[in-house]
Amino acid sequence: MTTNVPASAAIFNNFIDGAWVSSRSGQLFENRSPADNRQVVGVFQQSTADDATAAIEAAARAFETWRLVPAPKRAEILFRAAQLIVERKEPFARDMTREMGKVLEETRGDVQEAIDMTYFMAGEGRRQYGQTVPSELRDKFAMSVRQPLGVTAMITPWNFPMAIPSWKIAPALVCGNTVVFKPSTLTPLSAVNFVKVLEEAGVPAGVVNLVTGGPDVGTVLATHDQVKVVSFTGSTAVGRTVNQHAAPGFKKVHLEMGGKNVVLIMDDAQLELAVEGCLWGGFGTTGQRCTAASRVVVHEKVYETFLREFTARASALRVGDGLDEQSQVGPSVSEAQLQTVMSYVEIGKQEGARLMTGGRRLTSGAHAHGWFHEPTIFADVDPQMRIAQEEIFGPVVSVMRCRSLDEAIAIGNGVAYGLSASIYTRDVNTAFTAMRDLYTGIFYVNAPTIGAEVHLPFGGTKATGNGHREAGTAALDVFSEWKSIYVDFSGRLQRAQIDTE
Ligand code: NAD
Repeated sequence: MTTNVPASAAIFNNFIDGAWVSSRSGQLFENRSPADNRQVVGVFQQSTADDATAAIEAAARAFETWRLVPAPKRAEILFRAAQLIVERKEPFARDMTREMGKVLEETRGDVQEAIDMTYFMAGEGRRQYGQTVPSELRDKFAMSVRQPLGVTAMITPWNFPMAIPSWKIAPALVCGNTVVFKPSTLTPLSAVNFVKVLEEAGVPAGVVNLVTGGPDVGTVLATHDQVKVVSFTGSTAVGRTVNQHAAPGFKKVHLEMGGKNVVLIMDDAQLELAVEGCLWGGFGTTGQRCTAASRVVVHEKVYETFLREFTARASALRVGDGLDEQSQVGPSVSEAQLQTVMSYVEIGKQEGARLMTGGRRLTSGAHAHGWFHEPTIFADVDPQMRIAQEEIFGPVVSVMRCRSLDEAIAIGNGVAYGLSASIYTRDVNTAFTAMRDLYTGIFYVNAPTIGAEVHLPFGGTKATGNGHREAGTAALDVFSEWKSIYVDFSGRLQRAQIDTE
């Protein structure tokens, strides 16, 4: 936190009740590039409980009119917003790379996901289907409709700085809710970019509010009486705290948390395809995806061949500034995240895993001022080792050996998390057995553990989630609740379950 703002740095405000305002605290924080920590990307508001409360109160007031706007009209604003993001895709991607390090190709993908989700949810403005069912009584009509809940709070992580907010904000709005949005302190610029677009697209004052800051703001969002839904994406540890804070007020809590995802490679797999998939799944986004393929379980018959090729390809990956189109792997997002990666590399060595490649921080030349680490592969990992059990969130992949499909599935399921899993095989029976038996929210055949599309549900089991899903029409279930409506046009008292004629 600082009040000594570098003269050249742009200062960004909160967005509360339709106005860009500074925090009542008067405090600011800097956002620095992880590829070159001498560069300040921007300076943002270090908000406090007062700012969060003001945003919630504005959202509560705005809800009274926004809920009455017909859903297709709400959707028109989202269509306009999606189009504005299309027009600004390149600058938004560059801002994102500057603030969190992903290579440009991937930040373009992140912005594209926000476009796709905003269009998809705009389409829901003319759907949001309910049910009409026959009544058991004559001259009586029975149906159900979706209703908005009120003020919804979004707490988001830094690894998908525009995509994840769009997964939450677009469905919340189309369902008729209002929003208070708290992004990660590592990616506030992408949040500002997204909210500015919504403002320009015509979202009325108070309907979307942005409050930048840390856990203090998040705590108010999770506890305030007027917040009806808390949608959180982040680590399992913080998700648990948010859940505990929200429980006494009976809020609807939607949690998307950590992962330790697995790729299974069977002895009949197309090995070249599997290597490509593990490179993309393990080292894409520098391994900082909730769906990252951080575990690979390989059949003993193809184990050494796979390992040789995977290691050779991983050591050839170009690590560098994401703004350089030649870079394939960017930096870790922060010094703290890099320290976590380095500590797990030490843990892996101490646990006796075989270090195949990587294992070191990169500190010279173009890497001198960033949080860069070599893509790292450990082999002969025991499934119970910490590097096989705990989410590292960096460019570190643990490779394990198996002798059968059953053993591979048992290893796959043998972690606390349940987000994504995949299998490489040419046998349809093997593929369907694994699809059925891996207890995860997402499953791929002959593809890595990453690559979700916006029109199917997204989320995980066990310590990854609490039963909700985002994306697809499943997101509407988070941001609306059902009202069942009975219309009796018989002109007399009819009693369900008692009168039969
Ligand atoms: P994090 O849990 O540290 O932070 C997430 C958000 O919570 C941030 O906005 C943070 O400021 C806020 N926060 C921190 N303390 C809080 C508190 N006490 N009360 C309320 N809010 C608080 O996570 P991160 O480092 O930003 O993101 C990485 C994590 O997110 C990884 O574990 C990753 O697996 C997970 N993730 C999950 C998904 C998914 O869909 N399952 C997607 C992306 C990331």
